[in-house]
Amino acid sequence: MKLMTFKGGVHPPTFKSQTADKPIVLCPLPPKISIPMAQHIGMPARCLVKEGERVVAGQKIGEADSFISATIHSSVSGVIESVSLYPNFIDKMVESVVIIPDKEQGDVTNQSLNMNKALDANQIRAAIKEAGIVGMGGAAFPTVVKLSPPPDKKIDSVIINGCECEPFLTCDHRLMLERTDSLIDGLRLIMLCIDADKGYIGIEDNKPGAIKCVTSELNKVVPEWANKMHIEVCPLSTKYPQGGEKQLIYAILKRMVPARRLPSEVGALVQNVGTTVAISEAVRYNRPLINRVVTVTGPAIRDPQNLSVRLGTPISWLIKICRGFIDTPGKVIMGGPMCGFSISNLESPVTKGTSGIVALTKEMVNMPLLHSLPCVRCGKCADVCPMFLTPSLIGYYTEHKRFRDAEKAGAMDCIECGSCVYVCPSRKPLVQLIRDAKGAALSRKRN
Ligand code: SF4
Ligand code: SF4
Repeated sequence: MKLMTFKGGVHPPTFKSQTADKPIVLCPLPPKISIPMAQHIGMPARCLVKEGERVVAGQKIGEADSFISATIHSSVSGVIESVSLYPNFIDKMVESVVIIPDKEQGDVTNQSLNMNKALDANQIRAAIKEAGIVGMGGAAFPTVVKLSPPPDKKIDSVIINGCECEPFLTCDHRLMLERTDSLIDGLRLIMLCIDADKGYIGIEDNKPGAIKCVTSELNKVVPEWANKMHIEVCPLSTKYPQGGEKQLIYAILKRMVPARRLPSEVGALVQNVGTTVAISEAVRYNRPLINRVVTVTGPAIRDPQNLSVRLGTPISWLIKICRGFIDTPGKVIMGGPMCGFSISNLESPVTKGTSGIVALTKEMVNMPLLHSLPCVRCGKCADVCPMFLTPSLIGYYTEHKRFRDAEKAGAMDCIECGSCVYVCPSRKPLVQLIRDAKGAALSRKRN
């Protein structure tokens, strides 16, 4: 069978074997939790609680006051130690509710699961908004906004991104194997919500177990409210960044999202696996987004695992549960090594967009090559760019402070996948240069 794919991209080693076969396990409660009011794209939530108050797990503690924002809930029952500025993973201080959890925690599930129950679009959107769901692949864009496209944009196809193309991460892979029923229910709810009749679950061919499991779930009896929906599993070649929104849409639908436009422009909507499972839980169980699966892995971690973690848990606690570092790591990354960010403060908390914690050894970080060499004009960066850009040219303009030229060369279209950096023999910091060009363009627009 010919596998679906996109043009460009790279084949980094996947490094998934450390956790791919490890079932999701519950992470024990830490002694302290810190829940930021800003865990999403958009306005931070308005804090609703004060120091000294007692809260219960699932209680709303932050209100979303603007359209692009998300509700925040307490992930534990306990007493609020403070409402103060607390560091996030890049050491930026953000307003956070710090809670000392009780020894015993109640269950926040409010109603029994009934996947046969049909609902209308407004009920589904209201449940998603109330649950504070955002994109859990890392972008953390409020899901209810994504599910409210402009009336003139008809979306016919929903794609679930089951690629998990970032090396090391396996949290979505495990969810596809262990929460298959919720995944399919979540997809059907999304389709019902935006009145789409076609659904696709894109899975890279390095996860045959997930392809089999999801296919067999789809072959079970379909609830009456979903029996007009057409859903299929799409095996994709294992290539990075197969899970990029535009790349996935092209691979499956052969539709090209124009530069600087959203997938709704071509009638498509993409959702991450974790988000889709959370949608089912919010709608069926009335369950707010207060925990998520995090892959804690990398060669510097002693016992890599997939942990179900309460939001606000310190990253240092996750590392402790995984029996610590084998040796001082060269770098600890939030997300995967291609698109993720270096963590500067291990006491910072897990948030809604934290898919993985990856600890690399000093050897892997490859210190001698940190200093980049001049461009040798090999053209490899352009060959692999999935957005058809010439990264070396954008980098050149940025280095010479020619930000307008960098923008004209397409800096704003870059999805920051890191494929160009991966192949560059001169180790040019192309993504950083492109981010600088984007920053310059944005501040010019603001002024
Ligand atoms: S220029 Fe941007 S989109 Fe293209 S390969 Fe580099 S990081 Fe990826
Ligand atoms: S891959 Fe690196 S060396 Fe080659 S053209 Fe691009 S920036 Fe220059």
